[in-house]
Amino acid sequence: MERPIPSDFIRDVVARDLASNKHGGRVVTRFPPEPNGYLHIGHAKSICLNFGIALENGGVCHLRFDDTNPAKEDVEYVDSIQADVRWLGFDWGVHLFYASDYFEALHDYAVDLIRQGKAYVESLSADEVRAYRGTLTEAGRDSPHRTRPVDENLDLFARMRAGEFDEGTHLLRAKIDMASPNINLRDPALYRIKRAPHHRTGERWVIYPMYDFAHALSDAIEGITHSICTLEFEDHRPLYDWVIDNLTVPSRPQQYEFARLNLNYTVLSKRKLLTLVGDGHVKGWDDPRMPTLAGLRRRGVTPQAIRSFCEAVGVAKRNSVVDVAMLEHAVREDLNRTAPRVMAVLRPLKVVIENYPEGQVEQLTAVNNPEDPTMGRRELPFSRELYVEQDDFREDPPKQFFRLSPGREVRLRYAYFLRCERVVKDAGGNVIELRCTYDPATRGGDAPDKRKVKATLHWVSAAHAARTEVRLYDRLFTAENPNVEQEGQPFTALLNPQSLEVLSDCRIEPGIAAAAPGTRVQFERHGYFCVDPDSRPHAPVFNRTVALRDPWAKIERKGQGG
Ligand code: ATP
Ligand code: MG
Repeated sequence: MERPIPSDFIRDVVARDLASNKHGGRVVTRFPPEPNGYLHIGHAKSICLNFGIALENGGVCHLRFDDTNPAKEDVEYVDSIQADVRWLGFDWGVHLFYASDYFEALHDYAVDLIRQGKAYVESLSADEVRAYRGTLTEAGRDSPHRTRPVDENLDLFARMRAGEFDEGTHLLRAKIDMASPNINLRDPALYRIKRAPHHRTGERWVIYPMYDFAHALSDAIEGITHSICTLEFEDHRPLYDWVIDNLTVPSRPQQYEFARLNLNYTVLSKRKLLTLVGDGHVKGWDDPRMPTLAGLRRRGVTPQAIRSFCEAVGVAKRNSVVDVAMLEHAVREDLNRTAPRVMAVLRPLKVVIENYPEGQVEQLTAVNNPEDPTMGRRELPFSRELYVEQDDFREDPPKQFFRLSPGREVRLRYAYFLRCERVVKDAGGNVIELRCTYDPATRGGDAPDKRKVKATLHWVSAAHAARTEVRLYDRLFTAENPNVEQEGQPFTALLNPQSLEVLSDCRIEPGIAAAAPGTRVQFERHGYFCVDPDSRPHAPVFNRTVALRDPWAKIERKGQGG
């Protein structure tokens, strides 16, 4: 499907730079995740932007792991990030990089700064460094080590690298301005001592570069033209520029900031997501309730839906919170076009058609997707015993209830008119079976005498349907903004205790009983569902991706309307 190319202030900058030949006609962007967690829907926004801009302009987008903090990083994350970017539909080709590949070069740049008198080794404790830094309203004070001679700095930095010192005893700092109104410029740390094995460089290093230093130089080394990051880095840009301006680097990248994606009812902080996984609030990074790409994929969300969502959200310069209903809308829109319809009964109620011949089975024709005739038709077995949805029957129907009730006639989708004659109850008074009759003249769903029915129900043939487990998901949090920690309460206190409901005795039409994990379908009148990897042969498990209508919005509207 042809889509118009999106437009926003960053794309405007790129277009202007191309027009003025600022970077020799090149467009090189990068997506720079820290491999310390799984990618989430917020990262998708950044991926779509960076890869999108490269694609639209004949440029390239690098995938670069910002792996400068060995304590929190893991190859599991490196692998999942690559899989997720590919799944989203983007390709970095040969442009896969790691900040750790530049450790030697970054070290040499640091030595260069020391030689120029623009960096020094700090030996104050972390608490002292903080005290000297000052506050937003108060200038900082120079450290007594700020005036160390270059030779002493070179010697100390070499010994930091050689592993002579303990963590926290020394730092390499840029010598910029302790009185700067921008705290990021008050002699920021460039290197710290960290004794943790690195997933790529092993035990080779015991000093690691800080983010701002490593990031600016990695961009310059790779020839990045437009270094796009989120707004919280706006105040870091002067430091980014200082690093580039004070060293002889192969290229001059420029940083631009955009508003990160925030979603209501959702947390996107990696620290919080890690807590959800680590403390067992969810079943893993790919739990279908998680906003991770792995979770969304398992839930049945398509990459196309995520890309459309990111496009619809747009790229702005001001922070805002996006309604998660917008994501759900994008998912419905995509699946409506692509997901075949099937019939599934989630809470089965037995129907016996008393005037239908015992032992007879006939095949009825059903449309696979009314939105797409090329998806064809299929045959559905129909017989004397069926299941319908418990919710589609009321013994004592309220006023607006037009579905089955004693004496009432409805249509069975693709089949016949069905009339409920009487109910069968168990000892506890619960309805366990409906005794019904059908009208053979209504085959296909219309009455020759033009009489009307007010409801069309889905159904499955009892003898032919497959039994299946269905997992219904609701929002993971009950609070619209689970990011603001209530006093004395962890954010996990806002988890929705009803975010998962497992229905273990559902029935589906036989044709999809063996569908492979990842298969997406619409259960008619229910919503979109996806086969979970937990499925086993003859025992499929379905995840509800999204309901057809949003039950929450309805509940909320009711709450407001009284
Ligand atoms: P951390 O909280 O560990 O810093 P992060 O969410 O910033 O994590 P990174 O791995 O540093 O994660 O992110 C990689 C890229 O994705 C960065 O360029 C970052 O700006 C971008 N990104 C992260 N979260 C969002 C978000 N919610 N919306 C848009 N972009 C995001
Ligand atoms: Mg980050």
